[in-house]
Amino acid sequence: MKNLSFLPEFLQKAYVFQGIEAFANLPYFQKDEEGNLVISPQYRRPVIDMHTHLCMAFVLPLRVDMAKTTEEVQYYLPADAKIDLHKYQSHNIPNMKKVKRDLTIMTLTKRGMRTTHTSANMLRDMDRMGIEKSLILAIDYPILSKNSEYVLQQCQKHSRFVGYGSVHPLSRGVEKKLDRLVELGAKGVKMHPSVQLIRPDHPKAIRLYRLCAERNLPVFFHCGPVGVEPYISRRRCRLIYYQRALEKCLDTVFILGHSGALELEKAIELEKLHPRVYYEICGPGLRSLRKLLLSVSLDRIFYGTDWPFYHQSIQLSKVFITTEDFPNKEEVRDKILYENAKNFLENYLS
Ligand SMILES: [Zn+2]
Repeated sequence: MKNLSFLPEFLQKAYVFQGIEAFANLPYFQKDEEGNLVISPQYRRPVIDMHTHLCMAFVLPLRVDMAKTTEEVQYYLPADAKIDLHKYQSHNIPNMKKVKRDLTIMTLTKRGMRTTHTSANMLRDMDRMGIEKSLILAIDYPILSKNSEYVLQQCQKHSRFVGYGSVHPLSRGVEKKLDRLVELGAKGVKMHPSVQLIRPDHPKAIRLYRLCAERNLPVFFHCGPVGVEPYISRRRCRLIYYQRALEKCLDTVFILGHSGALELEKAIELEKLHPRVYYEICGPGLRSLRKLLLSVSLDRIFYGTDWPFYHQSIQLSKVFITTEDFPNKEEVRDKILYENAKNFLENYLS
């Protein structure tokens, strides 16, 4: 049993919700006339979501109409699933097989949950939660995927989107590819060691991070093991490998997506090792998130949701709940939900 002595009483009680609808029981949310969950007026404020994805395609071109709205969004954590805010977020997903299928074999088709992961649907969800801007992250293989292009096209169309591209460290012509991404409007680069099947401290990955620094492009990591990936990927995502990468690239700006996930405590230590590291908080349960907020500088924390894996209310609730007893809570919430990301994006809009 973990030592919970740093937790106030309200963080020791259960936070279990039967579906997204049940979040309307929290003061932060309510239902609109059509029964959709929206943020309550007194909590509405500008928010920037620093971790989202759109429908992706591998091998074959993207064949989903991104301008289309559908009645419902099929989140990978379904809207009617039981959600325990103390759990690591992906551990709430009841059918991981279905998710994996949608992200692999179904990307060859025009069907699947993915057809609801459109720009139009994301914008509608953003409006309901008061989210002003979303950072969209692409993921590409060395060959046979053009997700960066699809993402950056959508960012050209919608001023509320900011895009990070992806260059696989083992692909040919990395420098040229990075320059091409910049031309297309990429503001940073996403690196996903688990999906891209490469360790974060691989020499070619280190080279990529240095080339990113030369171009003023931050690197957004999927950072840490989450426990639902294959064993080999889990090993690849151990924090020690990220640490080695950070130590070798002190000039590169890094965002640790999921804040180290199940190795959050090790991720906290990285703040001392690297002058330009930031934490994106989608994933960790309430207790871990609280620990992060009490351990690292609050200027280094970004709100993120990993839409369309999750409805945006889940992570918003966690921010509100974990800061409930902070003496300057409104100031802290503004920082995490908006100010930090706004300042950061302004600095790196090269
Ligand atoms: Zn993600």
